[in-house]
Amino acid sequence: MIIFKKANELQEYLQKQKVNNRSIGFVPTMGALHEGHLSLVDLSKKNSDLTVVSIFVNPTQFNDPKDYQLYPITIENDCFLLEKSGADILFLPYVNEIYPNGTDINKHFDLGYLENILEGLYRPGHFQGVCQVVKRLLEIVQPDKLYLGQKDFQQVLVIKKLINALNINIHTIVAPIKRESNGLAMSSRNMRLSETERQKAAAIFEALNMIKNDWGKKEMNQLKKDASEYLLKAGFEKIDYIEICNADSLKPIEANATNIKVVALIAAFIGNVRLIDNLILY
Ligand code: AMP
Repeated sequence: MIIFKKANELQEYLQKQKVNNRSIGFVPTMGALHEGHLSLVDLSKKNSDLTVVSIFVNPTQFNDPKDYQLYPITIENDCFLLEKSGADILFLPYVNEIYPNGTDINKHFDLGYLENILEGLYRPGHFQGVCQVVKRLLEIVQPDKLYLGQKDFQQVLVIKKLINALNINIHTIVAPIKRESNGLAMSSRNMRLSETERQKAAAIFEALNMIKNDWGKKEMNQLKKDASEYLLKAGFEKIDYIEICNADSLKPIEANATNIKVVALIAAFIGNVRLIDNLILY
């Protein structure tokens, strides 16, 4: 695996690969890697000639400065895991490499309805920061395929909208959520949980499954109320949202809607760690 820290050196290298018609798969991450990230690397390796992984903890997408400060950094282990997984290139830039003109977001990305719902509502500015960094990374790497996780459900829709607006030809591939044996969705933030909290945190997946089992049998508000009570009883201290939406648009489900894909999404705190998860209902 080759490690690049400079954008121009990476670009120069990748240009040469492109001349040789090698297809490029790209897996952007914020590091503190786990099996979920590695499943994206695996997918990319199967579908592209060259797999580029980036590790960059993007300061502009953190609305909570404390969350940024506490974000786990495990670079040595990340390198070890990536080497083992067969990734070809790791892009590991410093902040000034990504933002040579500073971290202010001067451009507003039009995300429409997606901007201020769910994650956008509870993390103001978050998706503007995500678009800012993804745009820059895509300009540097210019991949053929981009690998994203369903774990960040709304982020996938946001990035697809960005790619569409930029009018670039990148195929987006979405990987299923990797889970711990107790059902907890793998996340870098899980490293901040104690062993007891990790056990309790599985309730988020259980609550999603409860919704799935009761879907069609109970009213929407009752489904959300039951899930909320379940989470609070299990030890979650605060719930940002429990929503059931159209999976293609994240818009509310119309009464009697048929033939649409439906997703349940939850964001909730255990201790001071905010966890998100989702489950396709049908
Ligand atoms: P992050 O490092 O959290 O920004 O995540 C980088 C990429 O990995 C994103 O596309 C995430 O959606 C994806 N990802 C994170 N957790 C998981 C998981 N448990 N399973 C599959 N993909 C994941």
